[in-house]
Amino acid sequence: MVDLKGQYQKIKERIDTSVLEVIESSAFVNGPEVHAFQKELEGYLDVNHVIPCANGTDALQIAMMGLGLQPGDEVITADFTFAATVEVIALLHLTPVLVDVDPVNFNIDIEAIKKAITPKTKAIVPVHLFGMAANMDAIMDLAKEHDLYVIEDNAQGIGATYTGRDGKKVKTGGIGHVGTTSFFPSKNLGCYGDGGAIFTNDDELAHTIRGIVNHGMYKRYHHDVVGVNSRLDSIQATVLRAKLPHLDTYNSARRDAARKYTEAFMNQEKIITPVICDSCDCHVFHQYTLRLKDTDRDALVAHLQKKQIPCGVYYPIPLHKQKAYQDDRYNEADFPVTNQLVQDVISLPMHTELDDEQIAFITSTIIDFVNK
Ligand SMILES: *Cc1c(COP(=O)(O)O)cnc(C)c1O
Repeated sequence: MVDLKGQYQKIKERIDTSVLEVIESSAFVNGPEVHAFQKELEGYLDVNHVIPCANGTDALQIAMMGLGLQPGDEVITADFTFAATVEVIALLHLTPVLVDVDPVNFNIDIEAIKKAITPKTKAIVPVHLFGMAANMDAIMDLAKEHDLYVIEDNAQGIGATYTGRDGKKVKTGGIGHVGTTSFFPSKNLGCYGDGGAIFTNDDELAHTIRGIVNHGMYKRYHHDVVGVNSRLDSIQATVLRAKLPHLDTYNSARRDAARKYTEAFMNQEKIITPVICDSCDCHVFHQYTLRLKDTDRDALVAHLQKKQIPCGVYYPIPLHKQKAYQDDRYNEADFPVTNQLVQDVISLPMHTELDDEQIAFITSTIIDFVNK
């Protein structure tokens, strides 16, 4: 699904040198590399504050702690996403409210959010799923109207640009009150281990969060709030510093691969390709995900495996049906899209090193199968 080795080969010299420098310096935690990366990412995203942390799941949890959400507060998020988003809501004893998604862009459905808002709702967590920016104008409008926080889960969307209705272009993750991301190796900006970050333009929230990631300490050995230990280490930071200048090139390589896939699937009635916007960079193709019609998806998965073509099903089970997150409050009639998508979707290999020959082989194998 990804080719991390091919990508490494192209920046090997820089990575090897800087990783060895970190080892020589022995500044493994909170060293100058972490600070430098923080500043560079603030510049790239055009946000006032980046707070690095240990992974994308922690980033979500810490963002919610920083906002002061309290047990019983309701947090609305998408039913069709990775479990980390709902997991931290539950861990903090907040009440997850899962809602359906849009069938075209796979992101949280605005009408479904409206229906789910109650007097207990405190926050909305849109996920820029598969790298496609959610409809942030509508989400920010709802948040304003109902006095809610917006936490953008940007783990799959780093580098995407959202064009607001006023024409202003903003990087995803910097639109809501707070944004989070993951630097897991397979993400669009991945390190060589675990890593994550929280972003915000709010000075006070940034200060709160900087304490939370460090055991709730604002002054050495004075613990003002209950915190956690969540740090990005210097080796990961130096890898990220080597890769950040290439992020836009990496994302455009992904977009080029997506265009080629889509071109190959043109006029295929059983294959619905993802939205590709020609006029903007709202999609960074963390995944290239098809919907299949009148096709046995699982049989196609088995066929591709036999042909040694990697593929993935993101995600095979709606969150509201997961054992950990089931709840009597949910009504199946409220999840028609997610319930269908989990049966229809398939994600194809997507990374920065895909070549035309690979794309031709993958697409022709799929086209032959669905038309057989
Ligand atoms: C990967 C991911 C996370 C979690 O990130 P980790 O670094 O693996 O903890 C959270 N949300 C989404 C949407 C993700 O894709």
